[in-house]
Formats: sequence, structure tokens, C-alpha cells
Amino acid sequence: MKISIIGIGSVGSAVATAVKNTGLAHEIVLFDRDGVRARAAAEDLGHAAAFSYDVKITAVNTYRAIRGSEIVIIAAGANQRPGQTRTDLLHANVAVIGDIVPRVMAHVDPKNVKLIIVTNPLDVMVMLAQKISKLPPSRVIGTGTMLDSARLRTILSRQLSVSTQSINAYVLGEHGDSSMIAWSSACIGGLDLATFCKQTKITLPMTTRRTIEHRVHNAAYEIIQGRGATWDGIAGAVADLVRCIVNDERRILTVSVADGVGDRFLSMSLPRIVGNCGVIGTLMPRMDATESAALRRSAKIIRKNFSML
Ligand code: NAD
Repeated sequence: MKISIIGIGSVGSAVATAVKNTGLAHEIVLFDRDGVRARAAAEDLGHAAAFSYDVKITAVNTYRAIRGSEIVIIAAGANQRPGQTRTDLLHANVAVIGDIVPRVMAHVDPKNVKLIIVTNPLDVMVMLAQKISKLPPSRVIGTGTMLDSARLRTILSRQLSVSTQSINAYVLGEHGDSSMIAWSSACIGGLDLATFCKQTKITLPMTTRRTIEHRVHNAAYEIIQGRGATWDGIAGAVADLVRCIVNDERRILTVSVADGVGDRFLSMSLPRIVGNCGVIGTLMPRMDATESAALRRSAKIIRKNFSML
């Protein structure tokens, strides 16, 4: 499979490495408006590939070279500086998506291509990319809260001494400050959280849950403070999404896709079934009244941001 990545900064190059390591692509095409940066990344990754899978990695300076790509990953644009929110990137990155998506669409097969959006503020960028591309919403997929859900599962795994693989727990809504945790539907080894804690004699009081929520919400800010940017977590999420699509795995991932029309038009993260043709179905998990209200609030914030474009 041919996969193209647009935007080869910290995130794009980590995504290229993670996608290469899946072994699922026979060709990875890198494009950045900074051609020197893309060429250097392609060289470096090509050398790394000599130690793993046989994959052709090329940097290109024209969108024509992405022709034949089944998946195009968009990771270009401004990133958060320390203290900035994702929403602060809105106007800068509207221009970036507005520049990239028409050029991509001029060279891919609209009947087959899947766009994966990584650029922040994620949900609004998905809505914009879907409008511009005119692709079915099911094939314009934002990584959404895949990363936030992974952060939650990692924290819970340490707290409960059980593998992340056995934890189904979701962060939903905006990939941003208004995201919420659907505690009511969290499930560990087939048990709800309260039953799991009772049987394992672990206590998870409300104060601990609040601390976990705080850590999930602030993870990106803390990483940016310490490292300047985040890239490994999101690269893992993108590679997992690519794997799910290419292998038609039909796993449930908290990706963000657009839905609805007019005032109801919205992209946010919910648990969705993902396969070879993109998002196949959307699930609404069990939530209590507080959680439902938090999800509605998050949806409202995304719509408000989109209305500002
Ligand atoms: P970066 O500054 O390191 O790299 C951005 C790259 O985009 C640069 O190489 C730049 O030349 C390129 N670019 C900008 N405009 C372009 C255009 N019109 N066409 C082609 N290339 C263009 O930034 P980064 O740290 O790699 O972050 C990239 C994006 O990913 C940001 O919007 C960031 O917020 C987002 N991000 C999202 C998640 C997530 O969970 N969705 C996680 C981390 C970062």
C-alpha cells in the first residue's frame, strides 16, 4: 500500500517511523513545504528501514507524486507553544488545511482514499477537511481522542495494576480542553469499574478520579513544557489507526468524523468501528447525566469554534 504524509515536522516524521514499523506500506511518500526538511527525513528513515521492512521512502516536492495513495495523513501546521491551547491554533491551521486538502484531492482517487487528520484543533480541522474534500465523512478520519484514551488507559493501568490491553475506557468529545471521560462505561476484563475495584480490593475514590481527569487533560501541556512538542503518542495512535484500516480490523477507536448537516454539523470523538472503508459505525456508550452534559458541552464548543471560521 502507498501511504502519503503531508507535514514532516516533529509529528509527521514520528508518524512516518511508526507507519514504517507496521510493515504495511510498500511505499511512504513525504511532503512538506520545507523540502529540505522532508528530504532529510526521507534519507534518515530510509536508513532506518534497512534494519526493518523493505519500504520505499521518498520525499517529493509536488503533490503529483502522491497519486495512487490509499491513505493520506495530514500532520502539517502550527503546533502549540508552551501555554497555548489547541484552539489558539485555529486560524493558522485553517489556512494550512485550506492549502493542502484541495491539492491532495487533485491527485488521489476520491472513491477510495482515506484522509487521516492530525492537525489541531483536530475536530474543527476534520470538519473543514471534509467540507473541502467533499469525501464521505466516513473517510475523513481525525485521530480524535485516540491519544487521550490511551493516556487514560495508561494511567488506569498503573493505578489498577492491570494491562492497558484489558482496559476499555474512553475519553470522548473534543480532542481538547473540553474532552470528557465516560467513567460509566469503563470496563476492565468484562467488569464495570466499581465491580473490578471491589473484587480486586482497590479503591478509586472520586478524588482519585478527578486527579486522573486532570492528568489526562494536562498530559499534552506537560509534555510540551518538558519536550517542546508531543510526537510519540500521536505517532502510535496514527499507526494503530492505519493498521486498523489496512487490515480491515473493525476495532472500536475513539476517532473524530463529521456527522449531521446545517447547525447539527459536527465532528467529535465517539467509539467508532473502523475498517477498510473508514468508519463503519458509531456507538453511544452508557453515560450518566453529568457525563452526557459534559459531552453536550464539548460538542457545543467544537461547533462554536467551527462557526468562527
Ligand atoms: P512542526 O512545527 O514540528 O511541523 C509542522 C510541519 O508542517 C512543518 O515541517 C511545516 O513546514 C509543515 N507545514 C506547515 N504548513 C504546511 C503546508 N501548507 N503544506 C505543507 N507543509 C506544511 O509541528 P508538529 O509538532 O509536527 O505538529 C504538527 C501538527 O500536529 C500541529 O497542528 C499539532 O498541534 C498537531 N498535533 C496533533 C496531535 C493530535 O493528537 N491530533 C498531537 C500532537 C500534535
